[in-house]
Amino acid sequence: MEPVPPEPGELARLHESHSPLRRALWVTLVYVLVGLAWITFSDRVVEVWFPDPRTLSEIQTWKGLLFVLVTGLALFVVILRQLSKDRLLLSLQASQRRELRHRERQLTVLMNNLPGMAYRCRNDSFWTMLFVSAGCEQLTGYRPEELIDNRVSSYAALMDEVDAVGIAGEVSDAIAKRQPFSVEYAITRKDGRKIWVWERGCGVLEDDGSVVLEGIVLDISDRKELERELEEMAIRDSLTGLFNRRELSRVLEEELERAKRYERPLALLWIDFDHFKEINDNWGHAAGDAVLRSISRILQESVRSVDAVGRFGGEEFVIVLPEMDREEAMDTAERLRQKVRHKPVFLDTGHNVPVTISIGVAVYPVHGHTRDMLCAAADKAMYQAKMQGRDCVAMAQPATPVHNEE
Ligand code: GH3
Ligand code: MG
Ligand code: MG
Repeated sequence: MEPVPPEPGELARLHESHSPLRRALWVTLVYVLVGLAWITFSDRVVEVWFPDPRTLSEIQTWKGLLFVLVTGLALFVVILRQLSKDRLLLSLQASQRRELRHRERQLTVLMNNLPGMAYRCRNDSFWTMLFVSAGCEQLTGYRPEELIDNRVSSYAALMDEVDAVGIAGEVSDAIAKRQPFSVEYAITRKDGRKIWVWERGCGVLEDDGSVVLEGIVLDISDRKELERELEEMAIRDSLTGLFNRRELSRVLEEELERAKRYERPLALLWIDFDHFKEINDNWGHAAGDAVLRSISRILQESVRSVDAVGRFGGEEFVIVLPEMDREEAMDTAERLRQKVRHKPVFLDTGHNVPVTISIGVAVYPVHGHTRDMLCAAADKAMYQAKMQGRDCVAMAQPATPVHNEE
């Protein structure tokens, strides 16, 4: 049954009345005065009205009885009033307690069903937890009592140190501006697994003037993973997993800037498969795809981690080699060519498909100063390699200075 909320101000009114001692003294004083007045004046009046001693004695008996009846009735009214008041007070208190318990239950159910963890913590460098909801264990792997008062670990210890410093700064700013804060960061769970969380909270001023933080922390690892996958999809070629044309162009532009700034060389390899149409025609398009994937892996595995391999489209691949001059670039291209030539692609059908590639090499600053110039030079060199009979490497021709070129 729903508890009946007390009328506003009703309890306060009951508490506001005079103190019990004062009220008891007042009632007693009134009783004593009325009693004395009755005894003093009624005797005189009766003596005057009834001079006969026998009648006087009877009247006095009746007078005494009347006094007892009247004072008894008064006592009854006073006690009844007081007991009714007490009863009302007790029922109001009971209904308030019921209401409080009801709200507490609602709050606990709400907190325990939150998709993350609700918390209340000190505004200190440990994020000392004063309260955490039951969701704490699912989120962090720690039971609430292990985190509260930093018994097993402080909440701050779950964050990366660098993150913790940045987050503390954001929280302090928000508190100073009396605004809520929202932060995203990674935590390491008790089982060692790293997860991403989103936290929203605010500073709450306590009675003693200190500030505590209250808020919720939600697991956003799935969202982060999706974001990462989308970012990857935006920069990767879906067939081979290599960089796509746009990303490789960006990397080339970036590396070219760096090469210019530090006056370092940079090489570009332009690769095209030889007679790839025949592979498709002989083995089918799916086999052609398998060949593209297989050769992509070989190229990726055969270069340094600082090099960037991308699929520019069809069966054309481009490799950016920072810090590489002409000789080193030629050697690398030759090594790749031989590796592909000597490693036929093994198909699911059990057949081996021999593959060869033609490579054009262009180097900054010898063959061009811009991305487009370098690409054009490397592409042209690749066609040169095709013309030389395919399965070979060709170096680009040095750029002819253009009038007004920087
Ligand atoms: P060349 O030695 O002159 O380069 O001869 P080629 O047959 O390789 O000629 P070209 O480079 O012009 O032909 C590319 C072929 O690659 C045409 C196309 O059918 C095929 N190709 C392009 N993209 C894909 C792909 O994603 N999968 C498959 N299986 N084939 C593709
Ligand atoms: Mg080709
Ligand atoms: Mg081609």
